[in-house]
Order: sequence, then structure tokens, then C-alpha cells
Amino acid sequence: MSDTLAQSTLNIQKDETSRGKPLPSHAKVAIIGGGVVGCSILFHLSKFGWKDVILLERDELTSGSSWHAAGQIHTISSDPNISRLQSYTIGLYKEIEELSGQSVGLHMTGGFYLASNKEWHDYLKRERSKARYMGLEQQWISPTELAEKHPLIDPKHYYAALWDDQDGDLDPSGTTYAFAKAARHYGGQYFTHTPVTATTMRPDGQWEVATERGTVIAEHVVNCGGLWAREVGHMAGLHLPVQPMEHHYLLTDRIEEVANFGSRLPCGIDYEANIYFRQERDGMLLGTYEPIGTPWKVGGTPWDFGHELLPPNLENIADRLELAFERVPALAAAGIKDAINGPFTFGPDGNPMIGPVPGMRNYWCAVGVMAGFCQGGGVGLTLAEWMIDGEPSIDVWAMDVARFGDWATPDWGTVKSTENYERRFVMTFPNETLPKGRVQKTTALYDRLVARGAVMDQGFGLENALWFADGPEDAHEEPTFERNRSFDYVAREVQAVQEAVGGIEIANFAKHEFKGAGARAYLDTILAGYVPKPGRLTLTPMLTPKGRLYGDLTVACLSEDHFMLFGSGAMQEAHRRWFEKDLPADVGYANVSDDWHGIALSGPKSRELLQRITRDDVSAEAFRFRDLRQTFVGGVPVICNRISFSGERGYEIYCRPQYLLRLAQAIEEAGGDLGYHWYGARALMSMRLEKGWGAWTLEFRPDFNAVESGMDAFINWKKDFVGKAATEAFRNEGVARKLVTMTIDVDGIDVTGDEAILNDGEAVGYVSSGGYAHRVGKSMAMGYVAAEHANAGNTLDVEILGEMYKAHVQGAPVYDANGANMRS
Ligand SMILES: Cc1cc2nc3c(=O)[nH]c(=O)nc-3n(C[C@H](O)[C@H](O)[C@H](O)COP(=O)(O)OP(=O)(O)OC[C@H]3O[C@@H](n4cnc5c(N)ncnc54)[C@H](O)[C@@H]3O)c2cc1C
Repeated sequence: MSDTLAQSTLNIQKDETSRGKPLPSHAKVAIIGGGVVGCSILFHLSKFGWKDVILLERDELTSGSSWHAAGQIHTISSDPNISRLQSYTIGLYKEIEELSGQSVGLHMTGGFYLASNKEWHDYLKRERSKARYMGLEQQWISPTELAEKHPLIDPKHYYAALWDDQDGDLDPSGTTYAFAKAARHYGGQYFTHTPVTATTMRPDGQWEVATERGTVIAEHVVNCGGLWAREVGHMAGLHLPVQPMEHHYLLTDRIEEVANFGSRLPCGIDYEANIYFRQERDGMLLGTYEPIGTPWKVGGTPWDFGHELLPPNLENIADRLELAFERVPALAAAGIKDAINGPFTFGPDGNPMIGPVPGMRNYWCAVGVMAGFCQGGGVGLTLAEWMIDGEPSIDVWAMDVARFGDWATPDWGTVKSTENYERRFVMTFPNETLPKGRVQKTTALYDRLVARGAVMDQGFGLENALWFADGPEDAHEEPTFERNRSFDYVAREVQAVQEAVGGIEIANFAKHEFKGAGARAYLDTILAGYVPKPGRLTLTPMLTPKGRLYGDLTVACLSEDHFMLFGSGAMQEAHRRWFEKDLPADVGYANVSDDWHGIALSGPKSRELLQRITRDDVSAEAFRFRDLRQTFVGGVPVICNRISFSGERGYEIYCRPQYLLRLAQAIEEAGGDLGYHWYGARALMSMRLEKGWGAWTLEFRPDFNAVESGMDAFINWKKDFVGKAATEAFRNEGVARKLVTMTIDVDGIDVTGDEAILNDGEAVGYVSSGGYAHRVGKSMAMGYVAAEHANAGNTLDVEILGEMYKAHVQGAPVYDANGANMRS
């Protein structure tokens, strides 16, 4: 038996201190599930001062996936803020060990990430660049150093190795108990052998949490059901798209080189071989993500499961083992002592799903946490901040449960979670779109655009065009870190928009409708900018009480008591949650994103095209920039907004979904001789760069405030609004960083996001987005840099795949600086 398993089995059997304790009748928070995630949330809520926080566990603590984890920990993640939280998690282990008196079995050995081909070397260069500005300790080590640190590895297979001091391993069971016992130190309580059987919302908004040992009335419920997250969700009518997956690791017999090494060996990940490994006693532990994932118990996790493992299926990992034996030859010679196959729960994109569930009051979840020992601490911190302060201290969009909507069904969740499991150590390039779970949600234009050569992606479940190839047979990507094959096609789309007229489908923009006598006053409070008069449009930031950005929205006033807000499609459920939280009784609100599809026309000939298909006078004088009309275009009823995100003259035409095909036909027929061309999201993102316009999730996100992002230009300071005091303070006291737009002296490659920005070799910021700007023929990036480096004319360096390139901070948009085209 390994250290891990020996201790786990011991711990899973007994914790008499919490067994049979009488349940309280009321609690502020009832956490369901005593795995590492639930225990971390119990710890954080209690530490931050909330009283009457209880955790209910159906069996002993760690009775789900937590007891049989491999216990490897590291900071690397595709999302920088998740990396930050992983770093926080690892830093927390000493604290909970001391508070609880419970060993977490921590071995901070350091660890390495191995690249055995150019692609993985490039990937690690990008990770190294991210780590620079995040202040994480990662450095390159040579093959000789690698062999010195881990003599079992044959270094000839590797291009490069990235070393991280913060990697290591721990005892999963001990760690879970340490969180729970440390929580007790602050007054948190846990109750084992207390299965929750029902959760019911009471008329007063509290939750009735029924257990086999009595009922607790709780203000808040947190679903931390791990392997049973789906079943716990069903109790509240929630269908979470998560899926337990089978997962293997092997434990070897004693290996002499390991036993005699003198210190504990560091842990490692070899991406191409798809293996992770570490020392376990005098032998090794070797894990892999099977090439064909096995979803476990698709129909539901049995309630009597928990202390068992699954029969191993070594055939499914035979190819991986062969590679592992080549690269770490001592493993081939060692006997296999144990083959562990245990299930753990994955989410559709591999990241946790946490936070308040949209549409439900005081129901929180922290599920799909697939690396609980790397992420559990950060998840606990985030959820506790969210519950206590109303918002987390950093942007956790990558983990927010609201990034999925009702299109993320259980079936879809199983397909995507399996895909993500299989791709855990498989490269995803920046221009790559994942193939599974596609065509989940489409508009009436799907077949038409595909027939025109559209290369599609999905956003918030909905298919949308990225770019247009010459036809369906030409519509494919070649995944790369460098400029990809869409380059010339996107250039063609941009040219059509710049010189003639282009059309882009805009069903994927979010639309939020507000009605009622109190609508204007409500919007005036929650939006920081101007709320327009009837028939007009404005752009406005929406801020949190702490002054963080929570939206950049276009507000349309249809009539004095009827408004439509247009914004980020991805954020639509998060925004719905925000709007519904304290909605006044005299305001009606609905997320109507699926009720309005549409097409945006852009380019100098867009007016002529529009005039051909509407009886309205749309001349410059009659239909001014930022006007809106409820009218008829192409013979169908529409809302037509005179704005454009392309920087050219343009119109956003929204119609009900049943009219979209007719609208598209009318546009194509009327636009043929004007040079009409469909364009996609890539062209749009390129054009907005030249205007220096940020985009939600990239430049605009809750990590930044209105002053840092420049969104303060749209604030109406004469009124009161949510976040005003904080924003005034930012304005008066000054901010430490600012959003800049830069041109970069580089050819053949562009930034893709998250690259470090440096000044004299020191990281002073990071790239939020970028790419090639076709109208001005330049590579460009946007990013946040320390305020002293944000002045126009400054030259900085941007690191792209390990090389430094000069970047020039711009003072004004590089294209149509005064906006004459757009307003024309
Ligand atoms: C083979 C394997 C290797 C792994 N290796 C690693 C690794 O190296 N590093 C890493 O970070 N992660 C690893 N993991 C993943 C890690 O184990 C999970 O991320 C983690 O255990 C998730 O914890 P959890 O608290 O969300 O869920 P769980 O551990 O499943 O806990 C859920 C708990 O909720 C309880 N519960 C469920 N329903 C109810 C109810 N109705 N009433 C009361 N209680 C209920 C269950 O009894 C259980 O105790 C590994 C997993 C496996 C399977």
C-alpha cells in the first residue's frame, strides 16, 4: 500500500468527533459535501468571520474522489487567474496544517514540465511569459540539470524543461481533514453520516435542507457534491453539465535509484507522452489521461459508492505506458504494485463551475473541480469572498457557473467533459476550435453561411462564423501558434468592409430587455453612463460597488419605459444574475438574447444597401449616428441601430429569429452589385483593434476599473450610480496600471493574448488581446501596463514565443483617428 492509500483508507473509516452530533435547526450556510472543495469552503467562510456555517457529509469526509487522488500539485493553468488561485492554494497548506494539527503530507519537491517537440516547447515559452508578469517562479532548466534533478529520466527525448519551485505532492485525505479541522478552529462545524436528501426553497427565500438526521433551515446552500454534484443539483431542479470520468494511475514497486537518491525526487509532466509522475515511498506514481476517456455512470452516481475503486483497464493506457517506459526507463524495469482507477468529476471546459447559480436565490455551487488539490483553496477563497463581499477579489470568469446556459444540457456536458478529459495534456492552439458538442445551438443562417465557406466556432453554445473560406471544401483551420491560414481570407473580408459593404451575423450579442415605469431610474443607477432619450443609443460601463467593470453595454431607448441593452453574449447569464439580484418591483426584465437575431452591415456602401431594402429615409441627416429605429428592413420588422464595431459606417439590424433568413436573402440580393461580402468574428476583432476598442473578457473584465480601462470617458458624473464612490477614488488617487494599444515590430506572427510586456527586461504588464490589423498593415496588441509606461510614444517589449519585439504605445486610434468614417 502506498503512503497515500494507507492514510486515506485509515481516514475514510473514522472521524468519531463529528459522528452523531445533533444538527442545528438553522444555519447561515449549509455546504453539501465533505470532499476537499466543501471543506475548503467551510474553512474560508469560517475564517472570514461568518458564523453558523455547517457542512453536511453523507458518509465520512473524503468519501468521494478526494481520498484516491494522486495528490500532485502545481500552479500551471491555461487561465492566469486560475494559476494565481492555484499558487494561493499551495501557499495555504502550511497554514491549515498548523491550525488543525493535521499533517497534509506536503512535499515541496519542485517540478518540471517537459517539451519533447517544438509545439510543446512553444507552449512552455508562452507559459514562461505568463509567469513573468504573474510573479510566479518558473525557469528553464537544461537537459543536464534535468538529469541531475531526476536521474530516472532520459533527457535525450526533450527540447526543453520548465522548472517550477511551487510544485510537489501531498496526502489528499490528510489535506481534506486539515481544511475541515482548521475550519473548526474558526467555529465552522461539519456533520458526517448526514446525507442530504432534499433541498427546497421556502417562501421566505431560505432553503430547507432535509437530511436523514433532520432538517436544517439555511440562508444559503452550497452544492459541493463532487461525484454526486449532479444528484445534489437535481434536488433543487438544477441539471449541471458535469461528468465523472474514470482515471488511472499506477504505483510501482521499490526502485533502487529512487530509494538511494538521497532526497525526494521532483514531480513532472511530459505533455506529449501524456503522463504525470512523482515519487511515492521508494517507488513511483505514474498517471495518464486516457486517449479515449471513459465517462463513468452517465445516468447518475450511485449513493452507495464512495469507498471503492474501479477495475483498471490497462489496455486503454498501453500506448501511454510504452512512451513512459521509453522516457523514464526505470519504470519499465519496476514491477507495478497497484493500478488505481478512480472516478473524478470534470466540467465541459475542464475548469470548475462555481458561484451563485443564475435564476436561483442563494444557491451556490462549486462543482466540476477536477484538480481539487491544486485548486480547492482558491475555490474556497473565491466562493467565500463572493458570498460575504458580493464579489470575488479577482475576475473568476473562467470558473463562473454562469458561463454556461440552458443549452449546456447533461448530454452535452458528458460529450464536452469527455473531450476535455482526453485533451487535458493535448495541445489546443489559439486558433483551434474544438470539434465535440458542436451545432448545439444554431440560427437560421447556419447552413447558408457554411455553404458560403464559413469556418464556424461556438460562443455560449451558439455557432457563429469566424471567417469565410472560398467554399465548404476550403473551410478548415491549420492549428498553429503563428499566423494561420485564415490570414488572407480575413484580409479580403476587411477590404470588403473598408471599401464596399460587409455583413456579419450578430445573433451572438446578448440582448437584455427592461420595461416599466421604474426602468429608466433603475438603469440610471446600475449603469455608470448616460441613459439615452427615446430613439437614441449610448455606450456605458456597468460597475460593481467596488468600482470594478462588470459590463460594457449599448443602451437603446425604445420608448420612455422600454429599453434594450446589448452586450457580451458570453456574459448574458452572468448579467441576468446581476440584473435580477435587486430588481425593483416596477421594472420588468428578461434576457431576450435568443429572441433577437440579426445582421450588422458595415462599410461605406452600407447606407446605400440599407436604403435599397427599406422604405424609411436612412440618409445621414434623417438617421444619425447613434439613432435607432423600429422599422422594416428587407420586408421584416426590425430594430435598426446606427452604430458599428468595425469603425466604418454601419447598422446593426435585429429581427426575430423567424425573419432572419428573409433578412439575409434581402441583403445578399440587394448587395451583390455593391460588393457585399460576409465577414466573421476574426475580421471584426482585427478592425476594432485599429480603433483601440476593448472587448469584454479581454480588456474589459472585473479585474479592472473604469479609470484603468479608459471606460471612465463614458461615465455621467452628474448622477449617482453603483460604484461611483470607488471610481471617484480611483480617479482622484490615480491608478497603477492603464490599458494601452500598441503596434508591434514583428512579421509572420502576432500576439494571441497573455504575453508579458516588458520594460528593460522587467515585466510591466501583459497583453489582453491582439492580432494583425489589416487596414493599417500592422501587428497590434492591447494590454494593461504600469501607468508610468502607458504614455503615447513609449516603446516597450512584447515577448512572443520567447522572442522580444518592440511595441509602440499609441495615443490615438491608428485608423480613422477622429471617427469620421463611423459617423459619416
Ligand atoms: C485517480 C485520481 C487522481 C487524481 N489526482 C489528482 C492530483 O494529483 N491532483 C489534484 O489536484 N487532483 C487530483 N484528482 C482530482 C481530485 O481528487 C478532485 O478534484 C477532488 O477530489 C474533488 O473534490 P470534491 O470535494 O469536489 O469532490 P468529492 O471528493 O467527490 O467530494 C464530494 C463529497 O460530497 C459528499 N456528498 C455527495 N452527496 C452528498 C449528499 N447528498 N449529502 C451529503 N454529502 C454528500 C460525498 O460523500 C463526498 O464526500 C484526482 C482524482 C482521481 C480520481
